[in-house]
Amino acid sequence: MNKRWSIEEINKFVSTQSESKLLSTEYHGFSQKLLFKCACGNNFEKTFTKFKNKNQRKCEVCQPLKPR
Ligand SMILES: [Zn+2]
Repeated sequence: MNKRWSIEEINKFVSTQSESKLLSTEYHGFSQKLLFKCACGNNFEKTFTKFKNKNQRKCEVCQPLKPR
């Protein structure tokens, strides 16, 4: 079973496991895109699954999705 995350737990995960900040204040499930603020100041949207499991913890400027 997948753990069911609350917005508070996600907020804590984001602040301890990344340099980004969580801007979203509600979480409705793994398919929802959350709004983050990157350490560089850019905002970006990502599902928490990608953020957590695929290590996509920065905006696409700081961490391009498809490195050449
Ligand atoms: Zn960035």
